[in-house]
Amino acid sequence: MASDDKQIIYVDNNATTRIAPEVRDAMLPYFDEKYGNPSSMYTFGGKIAHDIKNAKEQTANLLGATPNEIVFTSCGTESDNAAIRGVAESYPDKKHIITTKVEHPAVLNVAKYLERRGYEVTYLDVDSKGNLDPDELLKSIRKDTVLASIMWANNETGNIHPVESLGRIIKEHDIVYHVDAVQAAGKVPINLKDSPIDLLSISGHKIHAPKGVGALYIKRGTRIRPFLIGGHQEHGRRGGTENVPYIVGIGKACELAANNIENENTVVRKMRDYLEKRILDDVPGASLNGNAENRLPNTTNISFEFVEGEAILLMLDREGICASSGSACTSGSLEPSHVLRAMGVPFTRAHGSTRFSLSRYNTMEEMDRIVEVLKPAIIKLREMSPSS
Ligand code: PLP
Repeated sequence: MASDDKQIIYVDNNATTRIAPEVRDAMLPYFDEKYGNPSSMYTFGGKIAHDIKNAKEQTANLLGATPNEIVFTSCGTESDNAAIRGVAESYPDKKHIITTKVEHPAVLNVAKYLERRGYEVTYLDVDSKGNLDPDELLKSIRKDTVLASIMWANNETGNIHPVESLGRIIKEHDIVYHVDAVQAAGKVPINLKDSPIDLLSISGHKIHAPKGVGALYIKRGTRIRPFLIGGHQEHGRRGGTENVPYIVGIGKACELAANNIENENTVVRKMRDYLEKRILDDVPGASLNGNAENRLPNTTNISFEFVEGEAILLMLDREGICASSGSACTSGSLEPSHVLRAMGVPFTRAHGSTRFSLSRYNTMEEMDRIVEVLKPAIIKLREMSPSS
């Protein structure tokens, strides 16, 4: 419930998700009776080590990986940082990195950090639909390219990149390949067995686990400097006593996500398509951002010409509707989103972009309610706009 007793309609699931009740229930004993240290010799601790192993199996199953290839982290940002910096430091003679203009700041800002430390970075362009060009990728490859980092799905538009086929180009040149799958995990099938991907990041709070836990897949044999140097935990790849309740939580969330993928691509997709069609049909001056065909099933990013995205969010908020303009991490600033700018979306549309990202907890009734609130809000805001 909102503070003024309005029912919350939460359609900002690319920012974060509610914790699934099954995840919460799986975690609770680890705040209470199951507090042993998994590294201890006695059974009380050993049982906890077994529970971590189980969480690795659940996570590996979602990704088509093996449990030993999973390292738990504190978030998607840590997974991205660890992958990129850990690989770069393992190959000190190679100083070129490839990424894209539409990555999340967890990748983009690491690339900029490395630029300040003497690396050269190629930021691949996208077209007006947000698609990458494989030829541009091929042309950007150099003898000293150490790593390519490409996101599986974009957090703002939901656009899906063909990470497998791009990966084959990358691996032909013996370059380490990292994929940020923070938004893709649980929404598209992922099978890392026999895939060109060497490293892949996921985050718990995007798949109905709590904030503060993530995972990094590291393909067996991938050279990577340990990112937290300390004890022997995670086979020395990340020292520090494991965050057991949260690890159990992300494990459970991965198990649920694996069972939910079909639902995501049928029921959730249908709700998203319904919401999108109603908005595009009913609200004047509305247009879709991104690639309509190749998108996450839960995401729609719509621009309302001559209206500020922030103003739309405030109007929706008054009615208990939680959506987003730009990504959650960049909202709060009035700069238009770097993703929409990279796609060449005109200023008047980029400013009025609103992202609705659904989950299995939404309903069709909520979609109708959103349109009911949105339509008069846009008409009113446009009347107030000096530029319309
Ligand atoms: N990568 C992408 C594509 C994201 O959408 C996000 C969060 O929005 C992150 C990385 C960062 O994940 P976390 O919030 O767990 O640090």
